[in-house]
Amino acid sequence: MRLSRYFLPVLKETPSEAQIASHRLMLRAGMIKQSSAGIYSWLPLGYRVLKRIERIVHEEQERAGHIPMLMPTLQGADLWRESGRYDAFGPEMLRITDRQDREMLYGPTNEEMITDIFRSHVSSYKDLPLTLYHIQWKFRDEVRPRFGVMRGREFLMKDGYNFDLTKEDALHAYNRHLVSYLRTYERMGLQAIPMRADSGAMGGDNTHEFLVLAETGESEVFYDANVTDIVLGKRDIDYDDVEQCAGVMEEFTSLYARTDETHDEAVFEKVPEERRRSARGIEVGQIFYFGTKYSDAMNAKVQGPDGKPTAVHMGSHGIGVSRLVGAIIEASHDDKGIIWPEGVTPFHVGIVNLKQGDSATDSACDGIYKALEAEGLSALYDDRKDRAGAKFATMDLIGLPWRITVGPRGLGNGVVELTSRRTGESEEMSAEAAIGRAK
Ligand code: ATP
Ligand code: MG
Ligand code: MG
Ligand code: MG
Repeated sequence: MRLSRYFLPVLKETPSEAQIASHRLMLRAGMIKQSSAGIYSWLPLGYRVLKRIERIVHEEQERAGHIPMLMPTLQGADLWRESGRYDAFGPEMLRITDRQDREMLYGPTNEEMITDIFRSHVSSYKDLPLTLYHIQWKFRDEVRPRFGVMRGREFLMKDGYNFDLTKEDALHAYNRHLVSYLRTYERMGLQAIPMRADSGAMGGDNTHEFLVLAETGESEVFYDANVTDIVLGKRDIDYDDVEQCAGVMEEFTSLYARTDETHDEAVFEKVPEERRRSARGIEVGQIFYFGTKYSDAMNAKVQGPDGKPTAVHMGSHGIGVSRLVGAIIEASHDDKGIIWPEGVTPFHVGIVNLKQGDSATDSACDGIYKALEAEGLSALYDDRKDRAGAKFATMDLIGLPWRITVGPRGLGNGVVELTSRRTGESEEMSAEAAIGRAK
């Protein structure tokens, strides 16, 4: 992409309404624009990041054997009356009446709708196990929308639902989700720690939230410092392997790590004092096993192996796709701007032309731009007639992992400059070498 033809409305001033770094940086980098409280347009740069995150979520869900689909944002009230949540959800639910006076709502989540789809089409245990998911916009009329996309009212969520014959199978689905979520976050350059969370009205203790540690996080968390040493890495996972998934689950959840709702001081004190940590975190996902709560209420039964109808065991599993954009920035920025992890960066390399209009420099930049694209590396080429300092500031702000700087002086010596956004280190080398290193 050539910056002269792109739409990147960066802001010079720090917007006063933004209280935390990610919100400030997303506004300054021209990624989002608020349209009303907690509702945002995703401008081109923000949209690219959102799409990359979405892609990673899809890839890891499909790898785990979960099936993508798409349900609507608007739902009828009737299904929610069946589950009893139409009243229970309260003012967080945005209710709408259509011209026929039918009661509708903008979905805050999809348990009811998916259970209805399931019961309409599945009648035998032979069709289980089944896990369906979608990535769709949700609406929750939050009391206090704030921190930009971190607590929006309209936000993008991946929500998945498993249907199983037995509790045991449903717990395997739970573990599968835990493992696939760990992979998902790690691919985004994030450490998200599964923490035992509150199951609220649903009961049981089979729920974990995934938290990214950050001072600006809204959740208070308590953990054993050793949990931060555990990583999934590149190990081979067989999602059908019940033992392996259970093993990973054990490994990641046996040390103390809880949100404030489930925090138990007496248990926490058994952790050696020097390892006890209390901190703040951002909830980027949650997994849940809730048994037959919805299948009982909504009569979602299958015929079991014994011929008798039996209510299916279910769980639901969410990832805050749009919140992740903010969470990644909270975890990865400095005073100059964003530092994108390679997995989610909007462009891989930025090219800065120090002397736009100088034919040798222009043609060197063009060559590098084409070579990068030919390698499958997306590039943002700053081909505007602007001061070098302003171009550098923009590149630092938008945080692409690599910058290649091209000017007449370097070209005279056959070199360009390659800069890493993360380390800030620059090195001179030939254009070919720079392209090779940025890969
Ligand atoms: P929170 O505690 O932050 O209100 P939640 O527990 O109500 O979140 P869930 O129902 O677990 O949210 O939804 C799944 C995921 O959706 C959350 O883990 C979070 O990452 C994301 N999410 C929830 N509410 C919002 C919101 N208002 N804005 C952006 N993302 C959200
Ligand atoms: Mg909430
Ligand atoms: Mg929560
Ligand atoms: Mg939650």
